[in-house]
Amino acid sequence: MSEIDDHAPGRPASMYCGRFAPSPSGPLHAGSLVSALASYLDARAHGGRWLVRIEDIDGPRTVSGAAEGILASLARFGMRSDEAPVWQTGRGDRYRQALDQLIEAGLVYPCGCTRKEIADSLTNFRERHQTLAYPGTCRDGLHGKPARAWRLRVPDGEGAVIRFEDRWQGSQQQDLASEVGDFVLKRADGQWAYQLAVVVDDADAGVTDVVRGVDLLDSTARQIYLQRCLSLPTPRYLHVPVVTDANGEKLSKQTEARPIADGKPLEALKAAALHLALREAGRASTLEGFYGVAIEEWGARFGCVPV
Ligand code: GLU
Repeated sequence: MSEIDDHAPGRPASMYCGRFAPSPSGPLHAGSLVSALASYLDARAHGGRWLVRIEDIDGPRTVSGAAEGILASLARFGMRSDEAPVWQTGRGDRYRQALDQLIEAGLVYPCGCTRKEIADSLTNFRERHQTLAYPGTCRDGLHGKPARAWRLRVPDGEGAVIRFEDRWQGSQQQDLASEVGDFVLKRADGQWAYQLAVVVDDADAGVTDVVRGVDLLDSTARQIYLQRCLSLPTPRYLHVPVVTDANGEKLSKQTEARPIADGKPLEALKAAALHLALREAGRASTLEGFYGVAIEEWGARFGCVPV
């Protein structure tokens, strides 16, 4: 173990559990380093645990060797999961159990619509994370079509309005009925949907705090609703600003963001800290010093106390 393994030695036992959940669709880049660092600092500032989960559920997007590369990069940056990383591909049975629970409760239904049919049936559709707001065509039956996906039934009226407090972004509200519609938990291609996997995984790991990029703010109401349907606790949420390129687009592995040079970890960490508006940490000359200052700065900003 290197001396930068644990930046809060002797910390008291804490209920706090955070996580970083990269999709292995490419190497760690400046954007994913920001999410990793923010979740790590929040966990350490609370004297809590920090876990890594490899979100390799989306088979077609997974790049061979990317997960190992991300874990190796994190280690070079001085961030190591407090437990062995979890891989979503090993957890299909748990996702199946959750879906069965929802089937039993009558909260989901099979859907036979293709993307084109959904688009055609909407006069004013818009894209939300590549998902079209679903008009509910198969709510009352498949109309003779074969089942393709499973959807969670979203209630009408006030029950569909999800409100939550984001620790960075403030008060949030989303009307799932008008803005999202009944959403997919098992995809037509047989893959488990991100929304189901993330909710089951966070609950099973005992995650108390989700810290991630603001691009996922839009998924949070769906996740909270799903937690309620499955009688799971809702963690606290904190969504950090995402890193954008010169065109204002979010840096992502899909836009071929360049991997960060982890040969110079301190420089990359300082840039990530600056993005999170942590100014003091930029003066550090060692990794150890960097984490000491960054954890303190973060803890003071968000009023973190060991819980
Ligand atoms: N796997 C997602 C990503 O890499 C993050 C999911 C999450 O933090 O909930 O964008």
